[in-house]
Amino acid sequence: MKTKKIMELYNDYVMPTYTQTPIVLVKGDGLKVFDSEGNEYLDFFPGWAVSGLGHCHPRVVKAIKQQAGKMIHVPNNYMNELQAQLALAIVKNSFDGKVFFANSGAEANEAAIKLARKYGNQRGGRFEIISMLKSFHGRTLATITMTGQDKVKVGFEPLPAGFLSVPFNDLEALKSAVTDKTAAVIVEPIQGEGGISVADEAYMRGLRRFCTEKDILLIFDEVQTGMGRTGKVFAYQHYDIEPDVMTLAKSLGGGVPIGAIVARRHIADTLGAGSHASTFGGSPIVCAAALAVFEAIDEEGLIDNVDKMGAYLVSSLKKLKSTSGVIKEIRGKGLMIGVELKIEGEKIVKECLKRGLLINCTQKKTLRLMPPLVVKKRDIDKAIKILNEVLNNNKVKP
Ligand SMILES: *Cc1c(COP(=O)(O)O)cnc(C)c1O
Repeated sequence: MKTKKIMELYNDYVMPTYTQTPIVLVKGDGLKVFDSEGNEYLDFFPGWAVSGLGHCHPRVVKAIKQQAGKMIHVPNNYMNELQAQLALAIVKNSFDGKVFFANSGAEANEAAIKLARKYGNQRGGRFEIISMLKSFHGRTLATITMTGQDKVKVGFEPLPAGFLSVPFNDLEALKSAVTDKTAAVIVEPIQGEGGISVADEAYMRGLRRFCTEKDILLIFDEVQTGMGRTGKVFAYQHYDIEPDVMTLAKSLGGGVPIGAIVARRHIADTLGAGSHASTFGGSPIVCAAALAVFEAIDEEGLIDNVDKMGAYLVSSLKKLKSTSGVIKEIRGKGLMIGVELKIEGEKIVKECLKRGLLINCTQKKTLRLMPPLVVKKRDIDKAIKILNEVLNNNKVKP
C-alpha cells in the first residue's frame, strides 16, 4: 500500500489522537528504521524509549518467537513460570519486594495509586497523592489527574479527587502540601515529558527521609528512566536510596507492551486476592521478551556502554553548544539527554527527520535524545553531524 493510501485510511478510520509525521515505518534493525518508500533513518528516539535495546534486538526476537510457538497467554488464575522468573529478575535488579504485572505505564501507575490508597486507607484514611508539576504519569483518568500538566486534563472534568501537584525539586513545597490525609508522593527521578529535568541529590535524599518520617509511601515512576537508560538499571540507584514502590513499562519488554510495579513486601501484600487484576498482565510472551532484555543488559555490558556513550554524546553536544549559539543547556544522565534550545524545537526535529535522524522535542524547546543502549560512537558522530547542519541553518541572526 502506498503512503498516500495509508494516510487516507488513517484519516477515515483511525481516531486523530496523535500528531503524526507522514511516514510509514515498516522495518527496524538496531538503530536503523526504514519507511515504506525505502528511506533509512537513524533512531535516536525509539518510541519514548520503548525499543531501548534498539529495534528487533536478536535476543528479544528469539525469545518471542520461541514462546509464541509454545503458549502466548496464560490466564492469571493459573501460573506461568516466566512471570515468576521476571518478578525475580525485577526484584534482584531493584529492591526486595513483590511485583504486579500490567500492560502499560499508565496501568502500572494506576496499580500504584490503588495500592497507595488501599495501604493508606487502612492507616487512618490516607488517600491523597502528591505528584510534581511538569510530571507525566499516563493518559487514564486517574493518571492525567496525577500528571502535573494542565494540558492533558482539559475537557475531561470532573477529575477524580485526592490528587495535587507541587513544584519539582522543592522539598519545602512538598512538606507544606502534606496533610494527615497524604498517602503517597510520586516522582520521576528524571522528568521525561517535563523536559529532562534531573532530580537533585539533596532533594531525593530529603524526600526519602521525610516520607519515612511521615509514614508516606514514596513512589518512583521509572517508566521512562528504567532499564539502564540513565546508566544504572533504575535511575533511583544514582541516589543511594530506595523507593517503597516503583512503576515500570516502556523499555521493560524490548518493544512489546508490558507494565509492572514493585512494592516493598509488607506494602505489596495489601493487594490481596481479588483486589486488583489485569487480564493480559504478565503473559508468558511479554515476560519472555522482558527476561531477554534483562539478559541483554547483563551479558552485553550495556550499562557500561550507556556510561561511555552517554559521556561521548554529552561531550559532542557541548562542542556543538560552543559553536552553534542556539543551545541554552544540556541536561540528563546516561543516554537520557535533553538539549534545551533558545529557539523552538519542532522545526529542528522536522529538519533532522528530512536528513534521516529521528529525535523528539518536549516542552517546546527541549530536544530529547534517547538512543538505544546499544548505540555506537559512529552513530553518535552521524547524529551530531546532522544536528550540527540543522542548528547552523537555524542560527539566530544577531
Ligand atoms: C510514557 C510514560 C507513562 C505512561 O506510559 P504509557 O505506557 O503510555 O501508559 C507514565 N510515566 C512516565 C514517566 C512515562 O514516560
